[in-house]
Amino acid sequence: MIRLLSLTAMLLASTAAVAENSRPQPVPFVDTIPAARDTPYPGTITLAIDATDTKQGVFRVKESVPVDKAGPMVLLFPKWLPGNHWASGQIEKLAGLRISAGGKPVSWTRDAVDVFAFHVDVPAGAEALDIDLQFLSATTTAQGRVAVTPNLISLQWNSMSLYPAGYFTRQIPIEATVTYPTGWTAASALTAKVDGAVYHYEKTNYEVLVDSPVVAGRYYKAFALSPRVTIDAFADTPAQLVASPAQLQVHRNLADQAVKLFGAQHYDNYHFLFTISDDLGGIGLEHHRSSEDGVKPGYFTEWDTSMPSRNLLPHEYSHSWDGKFRRGADLWTPDFRTPMRDSLLWVYEGQTQFWGYVLQARSGLVSKQDTLDAYAMIIASLDTAGGRDWRPLIDTTNDPIVASRKPKGWTSWQRSEDYYNEGLLIWMEVDSMLRQQTRGKKSMDDFARAFFGINDGDWGEVTYTIDDVAATLNAIAPYDWKAFLTKRTTETGAPAPIGGFAANGYKLVYTESPSAYFKANEKNRKNTDLSYSLGIVIGKDGEISSVTWGGRAAKAGLSVGDSITAINGLAYSPEKLKEAITSAKGTEAPLVLLIKSGDRIGETVIDYHGGLQYPRLEKIGTGEGGLDRLLAAK
Ligand SMILES: [Zn+2]
Repeated sequence: MIRLLSLTAMLLASTAAVAENSRPQPVPFVDTIPAARDTPYPGTITLAIDATDTKQGVFRVKESVPVDKAGPMVLLFPKWLPGNHWASGQIEKLAGLRISAGGKPVSWTRDAVDVFAFHVDVPAGAEALDIDLQFLSATTTAQGRVAVTPNLISLQWNSMSLYPAGYFTRQIPIEATVTYPTGWTAASALTAKVDGAVYHYEKTNYEVLVDSPVVAGRYYKAFALSPRVTIDAFADTPAQLVASPAQLQVHRNLADQAVKLFGAQHYDNYHFLFTISDDLGGIGLEHHRSSEDGVKPGYFTEWDTSMPSRNLLPHEYSHSWDGKFRRGADLWTPDFRTPMRDSLLWVYEGQTQFWGYVLQARSGLVSKQDTLDAYAMIIASLDTAGGRDWRPLIDTTNDPIVASRKPKGWTSWQRSEDYYNEGLLIWMEVDSMLRQQTRGKKSMDDFARAFFGINDGDWGEVTYTIDDVAATLNAIAPYDWKAFLTKRTTETGAPAPIGGFAANGYKLVYTESPSAYFKANEKNRKNTDLSYSLGIVIGKDGEISSVTWGGRAAKAGLSVGDSITAINGLAYSPEKLKEAITSAKGTEAPLVLLIKSGDRIGETVIDYHGGLQYPRLEKIGTGEGGLDRLLAAK
């Protein structure tokens, strides 16, 4: 008893000797940045950009923002950019920021929470804030997208201007002038008065300015597709811009087929700002009246193998209707500071993916056979990915914000932006259901016309919810479309929804040889795609760029970043590996790979005997099926 008491006393003493952990309280957030209001900004901003530095990629900017009162004011750098689906503004490349009024410096303070916002105190009597800044384009891809090369400039206004907080961007008038390198041509949806190398753009508002980027270049060709649609083509060399009459005809067909499909046009004029370049950063970004479309050299000159890159123009053009004119209600924002919510991207990107492939076939940009082979790749990829076990499609709409489009180690398990291609599968299923329910009288074409084909000439935005989508489908064929679409977008554990293809007359099969489209895709991506045999994709020098979760290679312990150095005792080459897979078919001999993983080298044994496997679509039955009708030119 005495002993126990003394123990307790010791414990008490030891507790008292150590102070209780300090427990601070958080400093409250005080947001002093005014929310955007739908009221006109008092005055017109002027923006003057010197875009002549094609050697180091520095844009030098002078901006004048009129002010009508003294006191606190906030200037914003655009953060959430339409079409990017995440907060992708390149604020880190803004440099040299100096603000003055009447020739006297005005100090600025960056907001500690929203680092895209700059607080200033407008001095009494000031009529305008004069802003000097630079945008430093990436000079290597590690820094971001390279926007300037010796022959090309990609000018995005949002990267080189500030706008006043407190106003809907459509309420902020602005007039821009850009000086380009002498002798170059600049193209944009905005019209300009051209004075030598200086382009004076028409007065517009900040929302439209940001939606109207520029491509400028040394080598330029314009291809008119229709009275209102033009390809403004730029390239590293003039030879890349040589297009045959047949090649131009299928591009003209694209403009024709899209207007036949949607029925209305949501632009006055539309410009494909098209770049063919090894040097300029790749891009596919939609706007109301233009798109930024970047492809690698060979688009026209290696026509037989450039078909995978020919989906780009049909996709981005479809966005003028789906994504720009019709936009998810939670995605639309009044400025570039309000966070965008991506929950309806399975319509925005999923149905654009659907129409992009349909229009590439209808126009003849890509043949029907190549389009079927492209579908086979999409179906096979989703059909073999395990990520649907845990992650519903709807959650992948958060992926641009979750992952910032960074590369992943286990894409098939983590899932990526699957709302594109799985969205396509869902819309194919809807198409097959509409055909079945109406005995072939109705299809997704009717949805396109009813949903996107309203308000001809309106290039504002009409927002929607899932109820609006379901109501439009209901008017075509009565059904509980909301329940169907909700199930498809929220289910887990079920197989990928590939049934629309079978219902429309085609099924997925695997063959030992790849389709021409599959081979072209490998050529363009400079890889060896063994996704459906070993479950790996191999890039340059044997380095593994993708491993299918649960596939043969994954089970053998391989990861992205490992390199194959030898196969069955012979130095690695893509051909030797494919020969070894074929030789092992139907035998009991395993494949023995020598793998370099960091500094370690060791053998990996893969017990695989199924031979090479490549996806294709095979027609079911005879006669014209739903997919045959869908892909036929109108
Ligand atoms: Zn898109």
